[in-house]
Amino acid sequence: MAARVPPQEDLGGPDAAPSLELSETFEEFAGAPSIAALTQLAREVVSDPTYPTVRAWTRRGRGAVGCFPVYTPQELVHAMGLLPVSLHGGGESIEISHADAALGSFLCSISKSTLELGLTGRLAPFRAFVFPYICDVSRNLEGIFSRAVPGATTHMLHLPQNFRSEGTVPFLVAEYRRLIAKLERAGGERYRPERLADSIELFNRQRTEVARLTAVKRAQPGKLTLTESYLIRRLGGLIPREVHLQILERVHAELAARPNRTKDAIRVLLVGPFCEQPTLDLIELIEQVGCYAVDDELLQIYRWYDRVDPNGDPLENLASAYVRSTIDIGVRATPTTKGEAILRRVEAAGAQGVIFLTAKFCEPALEDVVLYRRALDRQKIPYLHLEFEERSAAYEQSRLQLETFVESILFD
Ligand code: SF4
Repeated sequence: MAARVPPQEDLGGPDAAPSLELSETFEEFAGAPSIAALTQLAREVVSDPTYPTVRAWTRRGRGAVGCFPVYTPQELVHAMGLLPVSLHGGGESIEISHADAALGSFLCSISKSTLELGLTGRLAPFRAFVFPYICDVSRNLEGIFSRAVPGATTHMLHLPQNFRSEGTVPFLVAEYRRLIAKLERAGGERYRPERLADSIELFNRQRTEVARLTAVKRAQPGKLTLTESYLIRRLGGLIPREVHLQILERVHAELAARPNRTKDAIRVLLVGPFCEQPTLDLIELIEQVGCYAVDDELLQIYRWYDRVDPNGDPLENLASAYVRSTIDIGVRATPTTKGEAILRRVEAAGAQGVIFLTAKFCEPALEDVVLYRRALDRQKIPYLHLEFEERSAAYEQSRLQLETFVESILFD
């Protein structure tokens, strides 16, 4: 059954969130006086399903491109004068009332809420959407979007699954050229390699600063909460990267002066939320009950590679960086070394246990869990598996499970 685009007056229902208005220069972020003020602003932005940062960016006719997880070469989108925006569904802010007509029941929340955002006009400020072919759900979402969301330019990005062939990098370069052609038709500037080299440098710097933030969390986990770290990182996919870099520099300066307030807590690795994101309440709960999340798979876009060489052919270098990435998660069919990989990550993070945090009905994440558990069992490393949905409201069961997990390690 074809999904219906509702009239605009339908959008003011009980779940319609108040719309945050931001300046076109994003001075609210640059001027936030502290990490606390910045994370409060980020919380408001993330909770507003009308994408206030995109509305601010497009007010002067500039274009934005929605990038569905888990990977789009956002450097390329930026190089064409467009704002790449990481899409992470509707979170807790929207009711699903139209997307159910087009998508089955046993599917992850992010697919439904993203379609709901499109069907209810909340994604109207975007010029185009990129859906990487990471699973059957994302593949179908691109097709449904192209028919059900009028005026949207959509593109399915085919990412390689064979990383040993000499043809893999040329294949991906050809895919990127298809994306370039689509973005040029959607109003992006003409592709120029020198612009891409500049964008690659900018994104290299952003990843370096984000990696510094996660390194602080690992080395001194009482310096900032997981929620702060998450919100600061999440902002980076919603605002111009130049502004995010300014923010990160100020965050690092404040962190250097902050005490490392430690508590009795266990060090854990958070595995599984590489696509759909848990709610802020659940992220907060993990540390409330006595965990330090010293490494996590939230916001996967920052983790594929460190530095891309901007010299030579930047398009080929960008493709190479993705192909050579050592990241091995369920959406990438690398030869399986997952057992060894999780053990290495536990050791590197000095983690005492693993929390699998997987989106309900996310097959790629669930397949990983099976392989990881075997390796952890062999080494007697404790783990806990929690599933989440975007609109979960009650976490009493999760709280109990987490508390029991923490106590079993603390008092072992
Ligand atoms: S949450 Fe999982 S199943 Fe859903 S789109 Fe993402 S990878 Fe696919």
